[in-house]
Order: sequence, then structure tokens, then C-alpha cells
Amino acid sequence: MRIPFIAGNWKMFKTGREIVTFAEEFKALYQDTDVKTAICAPYVYLGLLKNLFSGTDIKVGAQNAFYEEEGAFTGEVSVKMLEDLGVDYCIIGHSERRQYFGETDESINKKLKRLFRGTVTPILCVGENLRQREKEEQYLVVRDQLMGALSGISPEDAASLIIAYEPVWAIGTGKTATPEQAEDMCEFIRNAVEALYGEAVADQVVIQYGGSVKPANASEIMNMSNIDGALVGGASLNAKDFMDIIDF
Ligand code: PEP
Repeated sequence: MRIPFIAGNWKMFKTGREIVTFAEEFKALYQDTDVKTAICAPYVYLGLLKNLFSGTDIKVGAQNAFYEEEGAFTGEVSVKMLEDLGVDYCIIGHSERRQYFGETDESINKKLKRLFRGTVTPILCVGENLRQREKEEQYLVVRDQLMGALSGISPEDAASLIIAYEPVWAIGTGKTATPEQAEDMCEFIRNAVEALYGEAVADQVVIQYGGSVKPANASEIMNMSNIDGALVGGASLNAKDFMDIIDF
């Protein structure tokens, strides 16, 4: 049984004071739910969020991590540091990191391997850009991203993975993939996981859709059989909108 999982990706938004206000509002709205929830925030606020959400079921995630244990890597943050803060999840391979920060399938693979040696659960992002979709290369692109990211990852580790299908043309654009387009690719991803690891693992892997998810479209997306959750950017910045999505 896969438990629905809705995570917010705050990207590079909000400062401390705004985060305190959000947490107060969100905790007041948050009710017992069967849906798992997390907020993925900038590194500097992860400790603050862990404190603000302590005693609740609301989990905290990072948006990146480096694969080396420690050393002369100015500006980087290790998985051990995230573990030290009690961080629960870490987004890996978000399209903005691939696009602006040179993230490759190889570095993503190293990051996943490091995360699987510890306690922080990875959320692996995959997805094609507009040009690739127009050329009908989306399956090829997503398959290559999956193969590259999962190279050498064991079935036991893969079973605990969260995969977010995020078509780049739908991120922050207000343009959502139709529920059928999203389901079609999430089914393709599940089949690819099955081909790599077998049916039992494919049945366990949680697959999220991400790309302009809002309260108005959350329920039709979440009702698709291969979509187990959502990775929510813009709409997760507002406590009421994010809660409405969780309440899909
Ligand atoms: C994201 O940042 O992962 C995302 C899906 O953003 P948005 O919901 O704003 O499209």
C-alpha cells in the first residue's frame, strides 16, 4: 500500500520571519490526515523548520546535498549535516539544479548512493523539457535520467525511493500537464522501475507529479492510479493553498 505523499518545494523563497508566520498558519490548519507531508526549504532554515514542526507529523526536506563526507568543498552541505539536523527528505536532481548548476545524472547517482547509506529519503526528480516533448523524446529522456540516476542502486534501496515526475515545461509556468499526460509518464516510470527491479519494488515506489499543482487541480491529478503524490512549488508557499492540496 503506497501512502500519498505531498511535498512542498520552497526553492529560494522566504526568510525566517516569513517561515515562522507560515508555520503558525499551517499548524493551525493542519489536521490528522492519511497523507504524508513535507516542506523542502533552503538549508539555512531546515533547523528552524524542524523546531517549528516538532511534535507534528509534518516532515522537513532539503533541496540538495553533496555526496562527499566532508572536506574542502566550499559552499556545499553534506548528507551527514542534514542527518545531524534530523532532516527527513532531500530533493535530488531538480530540473533547476540540472539547468542552472550543472547537475548531471552522474552526480545525481552519487548523491542517491550517499543518501541511501543514511537516514534521509531521496526525492529524485526527472522530466523532459518543452523541446524534448515537442520532439516526442520525453520517454527516452526520462528513461535515460532514471537509468543514470539508479545505476548501481540496490532493489532494497530503490523500494524506498520517491520519484517526482516534473515536466520542465510545467514548472512555475502555470501550465499543468493534463492528468492523463501525468499518469501516462508516471505509469511509464513505474514500468521502467519494474523492468529494473521487479514488480514488488515497482509497487512500493512512490511516484509524485510536479508542475503547477494547485488546489484547483490537485484532486484530479491525485486520483490517477500511478500518481501517489505531488511535489508542489509555488502553491506550497501559501499555508492555506498547501493545506487545500493536502486535503485533495
Ligand atoms: C517545483 O518546484 O518542483 C514545482 C513543481 O514548481 P511549481 O509547482 O511552482 O510548478
